[in-house]
Amino acid sequence: MTVRVRFAPSPTGMFHVGGARSALQNWIFAKQQGGVFVLRVEDTDAARNKPEWTEGILSALDWIGISRGSYEGPYFQSQNAGEHRAAAARLYESGRAYYCDCTREDVQARTGSQYQGYDGYHRDRGLGPGPGHALRFRTPDEGATVVVDLIRGEPTFENRLIEDFVIARGDGSPVFLLANVVDDMTMGITHVIRAEEHLPNTPKQQLLWDALGVKPPVWAHVPVVVNEKRQKLSKRRDKVALEAYREEGYLADAMRNYLMLLGWAPSGDREIVPWSVIEEEFRLDEVNPSPAFFDEKKLRAFNGEYIRALPVAEFVDACQPWLTGTETIAPPPWQPEEFDADAFAAVAPLAQTRIAVLSEIVPNVDFLFLASPLIDEAAWAKTMKDGSGELLDDAVAAFEALESWDAESLKSTLEAVGAERGLKLGKTQAPVRVAVTGRTVGLPLFESLEVLGRERTLTRIRAARLRLP
Ligand code: GLU
Repeated sequence: MTVRVRFAPSPTGMFHVGGARSALQNWIFAKQQGGVFVLRVEDTDAARNKPEWTEGILSALDWIGISRGSYEGPYFQSQNAGEHRAAAARLYESGRAYYCDCTREDVQARTGSQYQGYDGYHRDRGLGPGPGHALRFRTPDEGATVVVDLIRGEPTFENRLIEDFVIARGDGSPVFLLANVVDDMTMGITHVIRAEEHLPNTPKQQLLWDALGVKPPVWAHVPVVVNEKRQKLSKRRDKVALEAYREEGYLADAMRNYLMLLGWAPSGDREIVPWSVIEEEFRLDEVNPSPAFFDEKKLRAFNGEYIRALPVAEFVDACQPWLTGTETIAPPPWQPEEFDADAFAAVAPLAQTRIAVLSEIVPNVDFLFLASPLIDEAAWAKTMKDGSGELLDDAVAAFEALESWDAESLKSTLEAVGAERGLKLGKTQAPVRVAVTGRTVGLPLFESLEVLGRERTLTRIRAARLRLP
């Protein structure tokens, strides 16, 4: 039997990092089993779906390595509506489902103040189809439904505690629970690997598989992803969109490595490992069922390591979207014609060791391309003290006299300027850095000045000097 798995996102919002994690787990499992990965877009919630969300999912998957054309699909759940209705009709005709026109209030009036689930009122009343008549599944009164779950063992659900749930609404449209089962059935899915949030649906869905006469799939409910407060990551509260991480400058390789560590780890003490190792070592049945903490700080640190490991040329390429701007990434503060690729290439290795996300490249190099630096006024106020004006005067004079404009000479020259005033290099270079780059932190100063060049460096220091007493 060929293993067939599916990833079945609903296009109702930005693509969630938890979804990306499940997609990758499905992807690797299929690969390891010599199986097939199917992408199915569950687009039946017409009120909440938007085509751009679907496009966002496809492109985010592509970004983390599940590339278009390398999987089966995308299928769209809405295209299978005929099958969903046919299955609902079969369940009705075989007596496994019945019509009911009770409102929640009706049920409540019969059963007491708190709604405890449907009371089975219409089970044997023979109500036929009609407007406003929902179709309910007749759950068994006895026995238990045992879910075989690769991660959670065999969660067992007593059937008498499962209410006769709705499978088609009063307007005849099948609900998610049924559509999802029918799609998995028609697509020959053998393993359903999905988020833990769906575990409560699983006994109901397994009953539907049984009632439709098809052997249910093997399930694997992967752990919920939580924030530092152990709350489920939510799009209203947390940064959950894969796209947001991409735009901030996380590398796809770092991201997918990190996502795979949510509930699992490679052998040894390693966490940062090549994708090929993950593909080889990952075991779905080793995934820890407990909630997985999405630690953004750790992800950042990971990303920094991935950035530092890039060959410089690849780092330069990877920075391009932030250097030029794209449809979704804001353009940098300089004009395209102000950008100087050679100057950038000269400082790129210095930046590469210092940034954790690629978007940080911009504030590190903007001083090179802007006609005058963007002065951070708070940094200016903190740095420019009594005596800074004279210090800058001395620096200008010493720099003007330099024969060779290189980092070494610049450093020893400024060091000497400071020494005359009894200042260490750190204190001496701070006002120069703010004058030239506008900031107190950044790339190594003297290499920066070398690349910026004599003219521009001196102009900036002089301009800063004019602002000082
Ligand atoms: N469309 C469902 C969701 O996005 C997935 C259901 C499933 O994987 O079975 O939550």
